[in-house]
Order: sequence, then C-alpha cells, then structure tokens
Amino acid sequence: MTSGKNTGTDRKVLVWLSFGVHGNEAGASESVPQIIYQLLTNKDRNYDEWLKNMVVIIDPNLNPDGNSRYIHWINQVSGTNTHPEIYDREHFEPWPRGRYNHYLFDLNRDWAWQTQKETRQRILVYNQWLPHIHADFHEMGHEANYYFAPAAEPYHKYVSDFQKSFQTEIGKNHARYFDAKGLLYWTRERFDLFYPSYGDTYPTFNGAIGMTFEQAGHSMSGRAILLSNGDTLTLARKIENNTIVALSTIEMAVKNTDSLHKNLVDYFAQSKTNPKGKYKTYILKNSKSTAALLNVLEKSGIEYGFAAQKIRLNAYYYQSRQNQAVDVDKDDIVIQTAQPKSVLLQVLMEEVPELADSLTYDITAWSLPLAYNVDCYATTAAVQIKTNSTPDARKKHPDATTAYAYHLPWDDVQSAHVLAELTKKGFRVRMAKKQVRIDSLTVQRGDLMITKGDNPGIKEFEKAVMTLDPEKKYFHPVSSGYSLNGGDIGGEAFELLKQPKVLLFSGEGTDATSVGEVWHYFEQILQYPLSIMDHQHLSRIDLYKYNTIILPGGWYGLSQEEVKELADWVKKGGRLIALEDGVKVLDVMEGWGLQAFATDEEKNESQKQSEEESLRARTYAYESFERRFLSSGTAGAIVRNKVDETHPLGFGMGNFYYSLKTNAMTYRLQKDFQNVITVPDNFESYGFIGHVLKSHLPQSVTLASKKHGKGDVICFVDNPLFRGFWYKGLQLFANAVFFPY
Ligand SMILES: [Zn+2]
Repeated sequence: MTSGKNTGTDRKVLVWLSFGVHGNEAGASESVPQIIYQLLTNKDRNYDEWLKNMVVIIDPNLNPDGNSRYIHWINQVSGTNTHPEIYDREHFEPWPRGRYNHYLFDLNRDWAWQTQKETRQRILVYNQWLPHIHADFHEMGHEANYYFAPAAEPYHKYVSDFQKSFQTEIGKNHARYFDAKGLLYWTRERFDLFYPSYGDTYPTFNGAIGMTFEQAGHSMSGRAILLSNGDTLTLARKIENNTIVALSTIEMAVKNTDSLHKNLVDYFAQSKTNPKGKYKTYILKNSKSTAALLNVLEKSGIEYGFAAQKIRLNAYYYQSRQNQAVDVDKDDIVIQTAQPKSVLLQVLMEEVPELADSLTYDITAWSLPLAYNVDCYATTAAVQIKTNSTPDARKKHPDATTAYAYHLPWDDVQSAHVLAELTKKGFRVRMAKKQVRIDSLTVQRGDLMITKGDNPGIKEFEKAVMTLDPEKKYFHPVSSGYSLNGGDIGGEAFELLKQPKVLLFSGEGTDATSVGEVWHYFEQILQYPLSIMDHQHLSRIDLYKYNTIILPGGWYGLSQEEVKELADWVKKGGRLIALEDGVKVLDVMEGWGLQAFATDEEKNESQKQSEEESLRARTYAYESFERRFLSSGTAGAIVRNKVDETHPLGFGMGNFYYSLKTNAMTYRLQKDFQNVITVPDNFESYGFIGHVLKSHLPQSVTLASKKHGKGDVICFVDNPLFRGFWYKGLQLFANAVFFPY
C-alpha cells in the first residue's frame, strides 16, 4: 500500500478479523470455522461476488498458549452433560486462567510495545497488509449483551472524523441484523479508543477502522450458563452472534470499498506531507537506552535517521518541559513527523495525551521518551538536517592483550543482562560504591568491575571476558587498580556481588500478570535462572536454598506464621522484594510493612479531610458516584520521582525517575526505612490522576528498603515491570536483584 505501485490488491478492500487474544474467551476462536463456512458456501447471499473484490484475513487464535490452557482445563472438568447453573467446577477456572499468554502477559495490551513474541510476529505481517478494517473479537461477562462499535469516549484526538463516522455506520449495520432477530446489544458505553496498545487503537493509529467486539460469555460461562432472564447462553449462540457481526463487517467493507480506499490513501499521504500535531521533528540524544526505544519504533515501521552533522537549535525539552537550546551531535536520532506512520509515532511520543474525559479503561500516559528516560527534544518547525540510515561512528572499546580488570558501566538494563551472563559463567564481579577515576575512566556508582584478581579460576581471563562482548560495546579494559581520587578497586569502594538465587511466589491470589512480568524479566530480559513456586507450598519450601524471594502483586495474604518464617529468613541474610500490593503481605508483622502515615498528625489530618469529604458528599447526586470514585485513583499516569543516587537501589538511575503509577497506594516517607525513590512536593505528572490521590502523593515513597538483621526488605509501591514496556523500570528492578547495600 505504501509502495505506490498498484499491485492489483491496491483496489481490493482488506478486512482483518482477529479472534481470541484472550484465551479463555473461547467463543471467539470457536466462531471462525462457521464464519469461513458461511463465507464460502452460503449461496443465498452474494458472498462469492464480495470475495472477488476483497481480501479477508482471519487470525483465528491470537493467543494459542492461553487458549490451549483454557481448553485443556475445560475438557478435563466437562462431562457429557453441561451444567448451566453456576455451581459447577466448569465455571471456575483455576489460576492463572487462560486470558494471558505463556508468560502471563495480556496480549491485548501489547500491540504497540511488542514485548511478546506473538505480538512481534503478528505485527510483522500486519504491517505488510495494513488493512482498511481491523476487528478484534472478545468476550465479556456472561450477563452482558453484545457490544459492538461505535466505541465509547474518550477517543484519542488523532482518531479521524472518517474513522469515527465509519465506526458508527458499521455499528448501525450490525444493529440492523440484531434488531431483525430481536437480539440485545449496546454501543458507546465502554471500551474507549485511547491507550494505543490495544487491538482496536493500534490498527486505528495505523489508518484502519479499528474495533473491539464483545460477545457475552468469558471463562465463567463454560459451555452453557443460565442467565438472570431465564435464557441459557451456549457456545452455539456465541458462534451465531459472532458470525452475524463478522459478516456484517465484511459487508460494510465491500459496500464502501471506494471510500475506505480513498481514506486510507489520504491518511498516509497526509501523514507524509501535512502531519497532524504540533511537533515536526523529534531529536533523541543517543544513549545506551536509545537503541531499545528505536527498536519499538522500528517494529511498527516508523522511520528515523542518525544526524550526519552537528547543529545547534532551540527546541522543547521533554525532561525539563521547557524550550531551550540543544546541541544536536552526530549520530543523535532525528525523527521527522512527516512520514507514513506519523500518527502512531506521535501517539507513542506524546507527553500528555489530551483526555476529554477521565473515565477511561486504561493508563492515560505512556510517553516513550519518559519510559526510556531518553533525552528528547521536539520542534514545531521541521529541522533540516542531513541524516544517515545507520550511525556513522560505532564506538568500539579498545582491545587489550592484558587487563587488570574490565569496567562495565551500569546505565541500562543491558548491563544487567551482561552481569547475568557473567554470573552464570562463574565470574566474580565488583560494584563501585563511589565515583572514582581510574586510568582515563570515570567510574560511576553502580558501575561494575571484573578483575583478574577475583577470577583466578577463569582461564585466559581477557579472552573469556571479551567472548561475552564480541561487538566491544560493554567492557572497557582497565590497566591498574589504583584510583586517582582515592577508592582503589581492591578497597572498600568496590564491593563483591553475591550471586542471586531467586524464588518467586505464584498461585491463586497472586496477580497473574505480576508473576508473568517477573518470570518474563528473568527468562527473556536477564536470561537468568528463577524458581517459581505456588505460595500455598510455602511450608514445604526450604527457603535457605534461596537468597532472594519475590512477592508479586496480588491479594494473597500469607498467615502470620508464614510471614514470620520469611522474616526469620530475612534476618539471616535473605532479601525479600515486594511488588505493588504484594507489600501488604508484610502488614501482619509489626515493623515490617510500610506505614500509610509516618506521624499521628499526618494520620489525623488525612482522617479529617476524608470526614469533611463525607459530609460534603451528603448532597451529591447519585449519578456523580463514578466520577467521585475516580478522584481517589488513577488508571495509570506518569509521576516524576526523586532518586537518592547514593543508595545502591538508585545507582545508575540519575537523579530522577519517571514512575508509571497504576495503583492508588500511597505511603508517606517511612520512618526507619531508606526512602530511595520518592515523590517530591510540587511533583511533575503526566496523564490523569484523581485530585484526592494527587493530594496524597507529595512526600510519599515509591521505593523503600529496610534492613532486618543480616537481610533486607525492598518495597516497590509502583510496579517497575508493568507490561514489560517501562524500560527504565527494568533497569531499576535489576538493582534490587543484584546490588547489596
Ligand atoms: Zn478480551
């Protein structure tokens, strides 16, 4: 489509139908054979004629692992008879359920970030076709009626008028068929078009009419379920409804081929010549994390170049939220918004997406330069600068036939992956606790030093190190242990790291995606061993086989006895890392959990405020409830935190960290804890945060740790591994895994 050549398919309308991104919404995938059968065999309708002028692409099962987990389970618990009444095990799917993929990621949140293999492979093909229409078939609670487009507000402001009105036309066409059969349905009430990583929004930002369809059902509906109106919802009914909707979608595509085609061509042409949005050029400073950010853009077909010359200009600087002078250096990244994928580019880069309505289904800010904390500048006029398609000067570290040590900077999660490799290969590694100058190098806090002296067992030391770094990207040889400003490599400034032996709790009550994010992190990002055990087996586990235990998010209270067992293990030298509501597991032990308030005054003040609010609320209208509820939370927003760079948990992070806040938990600065990452007064934030929650955030803690005996507890109030895409969070979490303090 973007090649400009008429290949014959250019005049055909392309419809892409996706089924079963959530594996336990089984009616979606089960509908596919019937849809295809109808399309190919129904002689009463003129489908034959339609198919001559179109291409229908059907992805019958976006989440094969989740689907197979669900199907495998339900086949085991299903007999000859169905059990339409709810109390049968076929309606109660066990943890972790089939919604998620192998690594327990929600693939319907992953379209833009592509952290998962299934998404990467799908988008590769998707971008080869760029269909006019994409429809994503789901299931929701069994008592609901069918949902189809048009979507609910908020719409992202880059959703075009044509896309909006076409959604409405398709919806009306579906309604016609549902009306004729007396079937119930609804539109516009939920499922907005805002967060860009869904199966409706991602295609929308790629020019398509992107839609979610939801049949009633979901895991709990089993093979048949009795509804409150006396009817029984069966798998056959789901298939019937989905078939109507799929064929109606195809019909609308055929009947509107010309307008769909014209609009898609215009969409990309306008993106190339007259892009939406106020910025015309983005400049990214080239740092270690930049390559990973570019990789996200590249996977979606977004174009960029490397500056071939130096220039100085004035631009808006994301990290200061001000206009200022910037020196563009050679090999900095230049991204022009005038390009076919302009809309998607700008959506992924935008600092604060405009939100017309705060009632949304998902996070409200996702800006990639903040997620990666890559210095980003944006200009309202296009920057004229020569660029190359590859960086000009790839910096390689020098070779050394003999080295005293190797230096590895700790400035990106890639360093943690290299440390994991070193550890697996049996290298002993030291971490710098202060900034020192050695040779011509400045060694920062958290940087690693691999010395020959620590590794007498490694044969051909230099060669063995460099085998791990064939491109010479990571290690810099060091010829002496003598520091120019004090703090020699053999002294106290460099601490030998322990080898983590890590256990993660899983099981009923834990948040499956939280477990999955940790699992994926160890297996795919670090590539480092991890044991996972259901917490129900805690009493059977020899905790002393591990020195690091991770409590994922979720609601799975451990008993006081179990927490005491963990506490004893910590005192003897263990490290306990708790994520999000996993920190509450510790509350049963006095002095172990985080306290909401540090003083009685803070507590009284907060109680006074909520008392006053309750009094005011006496006169509020019933209808305002949902909106008032929102004032205490956030669906997800970015908060700029302060980092204590002198604490090992803050090493390598810089003096601030953009935390993605996806929960309403707040804890004031803790007494007797190290408050490593904190929300300052007058903090900067991006996206929607309810005003009540916002008022509780100043002087609260995001990452705190506390020593108990020989061990310690680390509490992450915000989840640094959220959906695996918050890149700087991946680096932060590595500090908790590897660094002593
Ligand atoms: Zn779904």
